[in-house]
Amino acid sequence: MSFFDRMVVKTLPLVPRWVVKRVAKRYVAGESLADALNVVARLNAEGCHATLDLLGEFITREEEADATAAGYVEILQALAARKLDCNVSVKLTAFGLLLDRERCLARVRRVVETARASGNFVRIDMEDSPCTDRTIGIFRTLREEGFENTGLVLQAYLKRTVADIEALASLKPSFRLCKGIYIEPASIAFQGLEPVRENYRSALAAMFRAGARRVGIATHDQVLVEDARRMVREQGIARERYEFQMLLGVTESLRQRLVREGEEVRVYVPFGRDWYGYSTRRLKENPAIAGHILKALFGCGG
Ligand SMILES: Cc1cc2nc3c(=O)[nH]c(=O)nc-3n(C[C@H](O)[C@H](O)[C@H](O)COP(=O)(O)OP(=O)(O)OC[C@H]3O[C@@H](n4cnc5c(N)ncnc54)[C@H](O)[C@@H]3O)c2cc1C
Repeated sequence: MSFFDRMVVKTLPLVPRWVVKRVAKRYVAGESLADALNVVARLNAEGCHATLDLLGEFITREEEADATAAGYVEILQALAARKLDCNVSVKLTAFGLLLDRERCLARVRRVVETARASGNFVRIDMEDSPCTDRTIGIFRTLREEGFENTGLVLQAYLKRTVADIEALASLKPSFRLCKGIYIEPASIAFQGLEPVRENYRSALAAMFRAGARRVGIATHDQVLVEDARRMVREQGIARERYEFQMLLGVTESLRQRLVREGEEVRVYVPFGRDWYGYSTRRLKENPAIAGHILKALFGCGG
């Protein structure tokens, strides 16, 4: 990141919400479910699968967690009614993970049951490190209760990840592997591009070795995408055991090229009224952030 980009990141909280909203249009499908379903239908027409994320991870009350669960039930019913090729991604803190584990579990179970009724699937996103054990624990409980239609995200920047994959091997999980988006200390997380890439490769190999039924290779890093394609080719991994995953609005030309070359690609589509926190996180990780903000300020971005 240039000095100017770093400065913009630091001053992001001072940027007016309308500016962030204009830039966010690229990363967020809209505020309503109808907006999100239209984006999913467009992605399906382009040959991509999708996963919907209802934005709203920062909750403090049980009623808000109830509303999250109800929101996901509504999404799953709408996906079934419109026969869209799309599953859902959930963040357990939005289901009350940090308030009451059992109530959180009950809410996610209801969503996973709703998904199962229409043959759909629920991906459990991974949040920051205080949530890692609790998130893995809820995933394990759901799988042990017989819910095969749920999968887990693990983060390549965490030093523990290969061990986590090995510990979960007997469940033959469906995994998504991403680099990880939160700021974590060097005592538990690899820092810098190359060490994280190296652990990404190790974790991906460990997932296939562990017999994962499907792996979502979630990255926009072209080097890792090509390394992963080489790995599956060399190891003779069956087509149905992996897919690539990318965020809405990020590296769309890479996504389109992969689809053209016959790869399965799933796009992560966030939507909802709580777009602000999500958008500012995306902006902070985007090296070209300053350019986007300037374009938005001068009315030609978005
Ligand atoms: C489908 C999906 C699901 C995810 N789920 C989780 C999760 O559950 N938990 C979690 O911690 N993290 C999650 N992430 C985020 C992930 O951990 C990374 O922070 C993010 O994907 C950036 O890492 P990267 O692998 O793309 O590599 P990077 O090295 O960060 O990016 C590679 C290249 O992609 C482009 N790029 C990346 N981000 C942007 C952006 N915002 N705007 C424009 N260009 C960009 C740039 O050209 C960059 O050089 C998810 C990511 C994806 C794709």
